[in-house]
Amino acid sequence: MLNAEIVQLPCLQDNYCCLIHDAENNITAVIDTPDARVIEAELEARGWQLDYILTTHHHWDHIDGHVALKQRYNCEVIGPVLNQDVIPGIDRAADDGDVLQLGRISVQVIATPGHTLGHVCYWSPELQAVFVGDTLFSMGCGRLFEGAPEQMWQSMLALRNLPDETAVYCGHEYTLSNARFAMALEPDNQQLQQRCQTVEQLREQRLPTLPTSVLQERQTNPFMRADVPGLQAQLGLSGRPPAEVFAEIRQRKDQA
Ligand code: ZN
Ligand code: FE
Repeated sequence: MLNAEIVQLPCLQDNYCCLIHDAENNITAVIDTPDARVIEAELEARGWQLDYILTTHHHWDHIDGHVALKQRYNCEVIGPVLNQDVIPGIDRAADDGDVLQLGRISVQVIATPGHTLGHVCYWSPELQAVFVGDTLFSMGCGRLFEGAPEQMWQSMLALRNLPDETAVYCGHEYTLSNARFAMALEPDNQQLQQRCQTVEQLREQRLPTLPTSVLQERQTNPFMRADVPGLQAQLGLSGRPPAEVFAEIRQRKDQA
């Protein structure tokens, strides 16, 4: 495993962005830029430059700092191929299956349409980490602003298929409200009960509940569990196509 550092930065109300830093090569990347000033302050405090901006999707709270940071650091801006015309400062398009080489760190692009059609996630096998923007949250997923349930379900599967131990870095701290929703759907899920307790304790201390892991989400995230018979039965949708079950869960969450 590559010895690089990942720093998760709280920004705005409930956003996170992440810095990746490889000290040996002195390479630094940021995933999304909710707040240029927070990111600059952190870079300065650590004595790091900025080499790359990776963009998950075109919503303003993920791209707001792009222009200011590019101006200051002359970094390369990478973002989803489908939205390259609306994301400011894009130098390179990221498409499904692309491998980005950031110094020694290689990052694979995974298209995850649903929240937006162009949304991509960035997976680094060497860092055992995936940066999922607003596709996946702990025990939740992004609202379907542009995509269809079938697409988002496929995106859930793409992330669920990553190695269990992969750390999952999400774009927002929505975990506590997601946990309550998930508990209402699967009150007997023991891993979920445990996760809820942990999350409540963390939030009482105002600590982040993220990153989560692929294994933990597979066990507790209802949106990743639309093909699990127990959950299907709970919803009265036994044997239905998972995308349909997913759509029902998403609809209930939207109305919660
Ligand atoms: Zn978004
Ligand atoms: Fe967002």
